[in-house]
Amino acid sequence: MTELLYQLDSYKQEFTANVLEINPFTNAIALDRTVFYPGGGGQPNDCGWISFGAGEVEVEKVKKEGDTVWHFLAAGCNLPNEGTAVQGRLNWERRYQLMRTHSAMHVLCGVVFRDYGALVTGGNMEPLQGRMDFEFENLTHDLVQVIEDAVNREIQLDHTIHVKIHPREIAMQIPDLIRTKINLLPPQISEIRTIEIEGLDLQADGGTHVHHTREIGHACIVDYKSKGKINKRVYLQLDTRSEG
Ligand SMILES: [Zn+2]
Repeated sequence: MTELLYQLDSYKQEFTANVLEINPFTNAIALDRTVFYPGGGGQPNDCGWISFGAGEVEVEKVKKEGDTVWHFLAAGCNLPNEGTAVQGRLNWERRYQLMRTHSAMHVLCGVVFRDYGALVTGGNMEPLQGRMDFEFENLTHDLVQVIEDAVNREIQLDHTIHVKIHPREIAMQIPDLIRTKINLLPPQISEIRTIEIEGLDLQADGGTHVHHTREIGHACIVDYKSKGKINKRVYLQLDTRSEG
């Protein structure tokens, strides 16, 4: 089982860990703890480096299987033995861009739900750009501009973003969480992690986020299109520069 250090501290960039298991066929190692986000909920996995013995090896992919996080190392490197202590380091530039992007998507969700009651049906992101699908029948070009302005107003208000882990039965009693369909989570999940943008949005979420919305920087809605009669896909893009 891997301790997920990123769940409570998304700003932690370096860590030490022990190798739990190796897979020579996939060139992957499982660690007892990690800061590497394994991907999920529309947020891609982290990349970075792991060092042991003689040198540093690139982590090209990270994936969670059950309770274990596997780190896929660059082809051709020697794998450490089970039990070896290793040091890990994130590609922080990429991760921080993903944190800003993920938080921006939640600001967008919060604004669209608050102002229009429209629900999200899906989303995906890359560093500094994301797309989000809404049940939003009457979305127009003018309305997109109004939404973009509202999103940037909320970013500038510099809301604090809180991360909490609740026992399942407590989380089930939080009315705002119902719209993120937490009741559909498999019954073996006993704890539910939430991301709250103070005063704007609350969701069950596994991803990594910034602490304050101003860190997101300016957000642009660069495009939108229809995906069927009701569903609309909205494309968001961030500046390279953070304002946090
Ligand atoms: Zn999310």
